[in-house]
Amino acid sequence: MIKLENVSFHYKRKKEILKNINLEFSPGEITVIIGKNGSGKTTLCNLLTKFLVGKGKIFIDSENIKKMKNATLRKKVGIVFQNPNHQVIFNKVYDDIKFALDNLNLDNKEKRIEKALQEMEMQDFQEKNPFELSLGEKQRIAICSQLAIDPTYFILDEITSMIDYKGKQDIYKILKNLKEKGKCIIMTTNIMEEILIADKIIVLEKGIVQNIIKKEELLENINNLKDIFTDTPFIIKVLLFLKEKNIPITSFNEDSILESLNEV
Ligand code: ADP
Repeated sequence: MIKLENVSFHYKRKKEILKNINLEFSPGEITVIIGKNGSGKTTLCNLLTKFLVGKGKIFIDSENIKKMKNATLRKKVGIVFQNPNHQVIFNKVYDDIKFALDNLNLDNKEKRIEKALQEMEMQDFQEKNPFELSLGEKQRIAICSQLAIDPTYFILDEITSMIDYKGKQDIYKILKNLKEKGKCIIMTTNIMEEILIADKIIVLEKGIVQNIIKKEELLENINNLKDIFTDTPFIIKVLLFLKEKNIPITSFNEDSILESLNEV
């Protein structure tokens, strides 16, 4: 489990960007962090990966992050960033994934790479040049590099914001698979429909945890979340329509929603 106790943070100027954050993230769970631009989502990710260090305590499996060696931390907590172009270094996918493993001195490199590529259905890509791939494919390579390390926790900072519809759907599928395998996914987003893959939604407002919404409570809260995002996607409008008509929704996946629509 990742646990934050009274975590606060300010950059060089004294204004506090995160204020007294108390949160828990468990394995086998997808948490989606939302909040308007500037609410502190990225700062929070950077604290969870110790790129930034603030006040308060962060525990990773009961170990205080401040006392953890970087290599130990990287083996437990993986991170993927928004821009896939910033995450490729070599001109061969295999070398790119291996680089992460070399840095952490991990054994069984070949096996790890093979397994990660298989899990991401990227086996055919290992000899390819990442610089010749689409953004979605590059992002999957970035996830592969983390998968090969096999951390328990994945911090994903707006990882789908630059990729197309199909690429996004691929990534949602991967995240659900990781969750099934007991991994802990912590993802920030600016895309409203991504709240639908969450087990838990954390709403940040000006550096404060304004709300924590469980999946079961999402439907009754969804209307209040619209203001955070620039667009209300069609799927959310459909959910709100069904709710208004009092039609039960069994799950947030497209097939279940279509089934509910049949009852209108
Ligand atoms: P979000 O990811 O929700 O958009 P951020 O964590 O990126 O929010 O930013 C939160 C606040 O911190 C913003 O007001 C932003 O201007 C400020 N901020 C972010 N990075 C820095 C930095 N390196 N130095 C100073 N202020 C920063």
